[in-house]
Amino acid sequence: MEILQYLNVYSGKNKQRPIKDNLKNVIYEIPCSCNDTCIGKNGIKLATRIKEHKDSTRLMKTQNSAIAEHATSTGHRINWEKTRIIDTDKFWKTRNIKESFHISNINPSLNRNSRLESLFASRLNTLRP
Ligand SMILES: [Zn+2]
Repeated sequence: MEILQYLNVYSGKNKQRPIKDNLKNVIYEIPCSCNDTCIGKNGIKLATRIKEHKDSTRLMKTQNSAIAEHATSTGHRINWEKTRIIDTDKFWKTRNIKESFHISNINPSLNRNSRLESLFASRLNTLRP
């Protein structure tokens, strides 16, 4: 399925909710009530990943979720229902690169700044003998 079709599904032009909720290998954007957003990626079902973020936020488990950390520290309300798919890639390496690209392009303060550094650090590690 082309990205435009994904976006159409997501924006409601095509009400195929199960497709959206079961999407794997996507890069998504979750908006906050302060108009900032959090960008993430998943190799598992999108609905499952969002549930993890929601659980982390509810339980204030901030170590695995930048959005939980933001909601916990600011008291802002996360607009889960406005989660948007901004890209898709079935290969995790290029998905990581695309995620980093979107983070540096949109530059949301919710994303931890260390993402790009950690991406390149992990790339360097794979290149080492
Ligand atoms: Zn906020």
